[in-house]
Amino acid sequence: MTGSAPRLEAWQDPAAAPLVAIKGVSKSFDRQAAVSDVSLAIYPGEFFSLLGASGCGKTTLLRLLAGFERPDQGRLLIAGQDVTELPPYQRPVNMMFQSYALFPHLSVADNVGFGLRQEGLPRRDIRVRVAEMLDMVKLGSFAQRKPDQLSGGQRQRVALARSLIKHPKLLLLDEPLAALDRKLREHTQFELVNIQERVGITFIMVTHDQEEAMTMSTRMAVMNEGRIRQIGTPVEIYEFPANRFVAGFIGAVNQFEGRALAQAGDVLQVYAESAGTELRVHVPQAVVAGSPVVVAVRPEKVRLGREPPPGDNRLQGTVEEIAYLGDVSVYHLRVAGGALIEAQLTNHTRGAAPPLTWGDRAWVGWNADDAFALVE
Ligand code: ATP
Repeated sequence: MTGSAPRLEAWQDPAAAPLVAIKGVSKSFDRQAAVSDVSLAIYPGEFFSLLGASGCGKTTLLRLLAGFERPDQGRLLIAGQDVTELPPYQRPVNMMFQSYALFPHLSVADNVGFGLRQEGLPRRDIRVRVAEMLDMVKLGSFAQRKPDQLSGGQRQRVALARSLIKHPKLLLLDEPLAALDRKLREHTQFELVNIQERVGITFIMVTHDQEEAMTMSTRMAVMNEGRIRQIGTPVEIYEFPANRFVAGFIGAVNQFEGRALAQAGDVLQVYAESAGTELRVHVPQAVVAGSPVVVAVRPEKVRLGREPPPGDNRLQGTVEEIAYLGDVSVYHLRVAGGALIEAQLTNHTRGAAPPLTWGDRAWVGWNADDAFALVE
């Protein structure tokens, strides 16, 4: 049998050349830092998201890449070329704005072909490329409509077609789905990823919506107060958060502050007062006994029942709150140390009576491998 090494993703391959290299970039407005010392490499074909709460600096970083802002410090490279001093129109980049900025008096076809007309391409070529683009975004039969005769989702697709028609190396998208309602947004997320894969253009998207970033991205950068707190694939960010900020920002998490007691291999014993007991947690690196450690576990990893569940960690408590969310129910259990532990149960059976009710004594448990330790 011939063994072949697993294929490296571009960001794992030291020989791969990034399409975008952001090197030590900082930008302040009125002496207030908006982006602080950000370094980031994004590879050809990625769908990369900048994720963070309002004001964290993600739009500023996108505008720096587009050339609408100049950095105070640092360099920006696209396809190996230093673009730091270049104006927007000389960068191999297009930006799709949140408002879509469509021309209201032009038809869909003329909106999409606008960039090519400005380049002076022959009319026949423009017609062919516009038709191709409209087919791709499934708007072939809407070519002669005006933007105000379209739905929000259709306008979004016109804006996308217009951004892609000149085949930029890089497309920057500022909250591209923000104007759509929830159902349409979920549908459009998949559509946008499919189109991105088909055109093979690198996308960088700004969003404050963690589910959106998780669903769509090859990798994402989580930002806070102008800094990047972690870069990783959605799985890395969710299952292996690097610090308390990222753990708390993405999804729900139970956190227990404690101190390291002893370590056997990669299982660390931690005394956590709020849990009222010792907890066992998987930690790959050595931790000095006595150091502060936060043990964290996601609610869907916590088993809940009347009997002690299997697992390395078991705690007894009282059910204080139950929230029925349709697909899952969320239980809050108060344990002896005072912590309120969240556990999530999937509602497998339609109309089934809840297994526990308010005030019931119950157990929660989880494996050391399903929890993570945070030292920062
Ligand atoms: P949002 O999701 O609300 O758009 P954001 O994460 O994209 O937020 P930025 O728009 O990058 O954040 O703003 C980062 C910080 O820089 C904010 O405090 C903002 O007020 C400030 N800022 C951004 N642009 C300017 C500007 N042109 N002049 C002054 N301050 C600015």
